[in-house]
Amino acid sequence: MARYNGPVCRLCRREGMKLFLKGERCNTAKCAIEKRNFIPGQHGQARAKKIQGYGLQLREKQKARRYYGVLEGQFRNLFEKAVGMKGVTGENMLAMLESRLDNVVLRTGFANSRAQARQLVRHGHISVNGRRTNIPSFQAKPGDVVEVLEKSRKVTSILASRDSTAHYPSPNWLDVDRDNFKARVIQVPKREELVQIQLNEQLIVELYSK
Ligand code: SF4
Repeated sequence: MARYNGPVCRLCRREGMKLFLKGERCNTAKCAIEKRNFIPGQHGQARAKKIQGYGLQLREKQKARRYYGVLEGQFRNLFEKAVGMKGVTGENMLAMLESRLDNVVLRTGFANSRAQARQLVRHGHISVNGRRTNIPSFQAKPGDVVEVLEKSRKVTSILASRDSTAHYPSPNWLDVDRDNFKARVIQVPKREELVQIQLNEQLIVELYSK
């Protein structure tokens, strides 16, 4: 399945909530959810009805997948890995999504949106433990040091993102050194520190366990 390249605000409107896919714009009155919070499409408003059962589970999975920008196959693989790990499957899965390199770059504030973070990684601006890493799905582990490469520290978009996100608090599981463009992963993210959207991961586990 190909990556979705269409208008991302439609995804938020489909889920009926902000998924924060457009950086700063998401916190302004220009956000589509502020103006048109109904399902997109000609019959969107007519389709707004209470969903339950399978529909609820499916929407929860789509919400998580779209929030983290992960394809269906990758998402399923993460779930399978989470099942094989110790602990609560849903929480393991969220921790792995949160530990993706593109997400870590977003949380450090060197990118404004997950799409921008992903691009920084893909274009080779990021290193992990001193080695350039261009795989957005790379799993950052406790102890890993994620850095913007020396030669990329003057890139306008990185500097602009760093400035515009300066007032955002850093998550507890990351030790962010903005001045030196680096962050160290302190621990595996805990459930209470994860995702800024409301998400019931148990419904996703139920969906995949059928
Ligand atoms: Fe668009 Fe961001 Fe608002 Fe979602 S939260 S509708 S991506 S502006």
